[in-house]
Amino acid sequence: MVDAVEHLRVTYNDIHNLIRKCTPKIAAEFNPDLLVAIGGGGFFPARVMRTFLRAETEHKALQIQAIGLSLYEPVEGTSVNVIGHEVIRTQWLGPDSGKLLLGRKNLIVDEVDDTRKTLHYALSELEKDVEAELLTRPESERAALREATKFAIFVVHNKNKPKLADLPAETLYFAGANVDDVWLDYPWEAMDIEEHDRRASADKTQA
Ligand code: 5GP
Repeated sequence: MVDAVEHLRVTYNDIHNLIRKCTPKIAAEFNPDLLVAIGGGGFFPARVMRTFLRAETEHKALQIQAIGLSLYEPVEGTSVNVIGHEVIRTQWLGPDSGKLLLGRKNLIVDEVDDTRKTLHYALSELEKDVEAELLTRPESERAALREATKFAIFVVHNKNKPKLADLPAETLYFAGANVDDVWLDYPWEAMDIEEHDRRASADKTQA
């Protein structure tokens, strides 16, 4: 089968530099207490972001927590994935999820916002965990705790395309770069990283 989708090859250095450029804005406007990385693509970006956030904010204890979500199914014979119908949880924060998130500024990190279904799912489910945790707290404390609990989103790449799900208008949203609706080839998916980097470099020369 011929793979007709346009690809954009991204290198580790490209990702590192996009995160470096975006972090001062995130530190100034949100200053997270906790990073929630959506696996697997959000793991490397979250780890890199922590390096820059720590430098910006001197927040030495900045934790990274992980959730695993899957929406895509590989298409046989191509390097492209097609959209699955629903988001599947493969890993979550555990029984103390709400306790962990409550009262904190939580930055959800993923590598790419394509249809937005994954980010919508992650945010709404994490918010549900917070609401469940609030029910265990005295009623008099709930409003202040809810107010102190914030979520924001960081993606390395946002694709400029109609989205299939929404995020609440008040949710802060940061993207390292906005790109066309192409298929992004990430370095951690490459079998031969030197070849991947060579081709990425050739693409840049041609552009
Ligand atoms: P969404 O829910 O926004 O449609 O998709 C999010 C997930 O789909 C990403 O975390 C990623 O795993 C996968 N995905 C979407 N577009 C791309 C792409 O262009 N390249 C790669 N490698 N993965 C993608």
